[in-house]
Amino acid sequence: MSRTNFSMPLFLEKVRDAKSLDEAEVRHFISHLKNFPDEQVSAFLAHAFHQPLSKQNKVHLTLAMRDSGVKLDWTGLNKPVVDKHSTGGIGDKISICLAPLLASLGMAVPTIMGRGLGFSGGTVDKLESIPGLSLGLRAEKIQQLVREFGMAFGAQSGDIAPADKKLYALRDVTATVESVPLITASILSKKLAESLDALVLDVKWGSGAFMSTRDKACELALSLIETAEEAGVKTRAFLTNMNQPLGLVSGNACEVIEAVMILKNETSKSRQMTDTRTLTLELAASLLIQTGFEKSTTTALARAESALLSGRPFEIFCRVVRAQGGDFESFEKSFSLLPTTKHRLIVSATTDGYLASVNGKALGHALILGKAGREKQLDAIDHITSLEHPVKIGDAVRKGDVLCAIYLNHSDKLGDIQALLESAFQISSEPILPQPLIQEVLPL
Ligand code: URA
Repeated sequence: MSRTNFSMPLFLEKVRDAKSLDEAEVRHFISHLKNFPDEQVSAFLAHAFHQPLSKQNKVHLTLAMRDSGVKLDWTGLNKPVVDKHSTGGIGDKISICLAPLLASLGMAVPTIMGRGLGFSGGTVDKLESIPGLSLGLRAEKIQQLVREFGMAFGAQSGDIAPADKKLYALRDVTATVESVPLITASILSKKLAESLDALVLDVKWGSGAFMSTRDKACELALSLIETAEEAGVKTRAFLTNMNQPLGLVSGNACEVIEAVMILKNETSKSRQMTDTRTLTLELAASLLIQTGFEKSTTTALARAESALLSGRPFEIFCRVVRAQGGDFESFEKSFSLLPTTKHRLIVSATTDGYLASVNGKALGHALILGKAGREKQLDAIDHITSLEHPVKIGDAVRKGDVLCAIYLNHSDKLGDIQALLESAFQISSEPILPQPLIQEVLPL
């Protein structure tokens, strides 16, 4: 279909009837998105929600959305360009340690990260705890930092995949977010604009994740892999367990501190941080294999571990933070993992037994009420709020042991926060097996 005879009603009819779409008409729709009234764009979303887009239609949509803004340019760069995408979960601070680790391993990492989505926090909000750190970088600045340091911490800005911004805002208000092809196009439009060679996905499922079941997470992972591979990006997906929060703490500044402890190799005394460190190393090892640096998981893991132990990733982190205007010294003076705050609420075990389950959504909502996240889009967040969760599923507990503690300065919803936290933990009198963190790596 040529540009001149594009008809929106006919295009919508084809989407409604699950017909195959021409690449040119999908590109016309996306490149003229801002000229179409919201009711027509919303009709597109509703039809695509009820008649899930075929693989080919989804690929056309993803690539057109990618091309709606600027794409990073790596001409002359002699390194593989890589990134990770996580579907998000409580306590997920992995991007903060992974990007400098990958840069220390010789890869170029133009991370373009998001803010909090729903009840789980976003890496941009976490990193903004560092005073002065500027994350809304333009494409040229990201390219310059990556060429100089091997990485940059970037946030999605207006020049990357602007079509996703408009579509996402309408999906949010038309109840059409939970469509696997639409989620795929949304996530990949931004990642593919980074002009990557390889991408590793951390698709989380469970009570603290966007996808509550493993089957749904697997469906999304396979959709992301097939679409990214069509765009020429070597892609793998880890299906990981989010039935309990990652690491020891969740919040904003506290998560940056935990990530920095991993980069400084200071976590050996905190077994609760092992999951975050392990997943960081596994994702790095996967990208070493995807980019051809290593052939086997064993050698790749050993190489990633030795890079982390060398201290070089922490040096890179400090240099990048400084180059982006961040004052890491004053951050370290202002915040701590378990801060001194006006209020500290605790949940203790009411009986002896074994921790059987944790409701991550309840923890996420408690964090939002404690101002670590947003109830409304423009709400300010309080970076100091910290939720400590020292007990993992399967751990033996005695009556009175602390299951979690929240440190916060705001007092208007303390009763609701306490009730949410208390509802989140279940103890069994029978022993419970610990849950494996990495459930599967796709493709097999
Ligand atoms: N993250 C995104 O960027 N888009 C979605 O649709 C869902 C999660």
